[in-house]
Amino acid sequence: MPIVFEDEKEKLEKLGQKEFREIIFGKLKLYRWIIRGRCPFNDPETGLCKIHEDKPLSCKMFPLNLRIKGSEASIELSFGCSWVKAHPQAVRLDPKKVFPREWKALEEALDRLRRAMS
Ligand code: SF4
Repeated sequence: MPIVFEDEKEKLEKLGQKEFREIIFGKLKLYRWIIRGRCPFNDPETGLCKIHEDKPLSCKMFPLNLRIKGSEASIELSFGCSWVKAHPQAVRLDPKKVFPREWKALEEALDRLRRAMS
């Protein structure tokens, strides 16, 4: 269940998504996008994302996950990713090098969080 920013939630709502849970993070409102079962944007034939260009930052950064707990944000590597599951030693590697594109998306999300908090 990815964490999404307000504008990402609005975009998803326009695409028919209705279930979100509000998360207050400092002055910022974030949302947990509730996906029940398979994501509706996952093409069952190809396994690919049908909204690749428009998917939220949380999807772009996967398997790097942003965790929000109260006023604390942290980053974790998701074992929901089959590659990570097959390479558990990845937790000891530099995520910037192993997941350069995903790291970029993560930095964008952290930047947005920092700007919203200042
Ligand atoms: S990457 Fe695409 S298919 Fe996967 S959860 Fe995100 S929106 Fe859904």
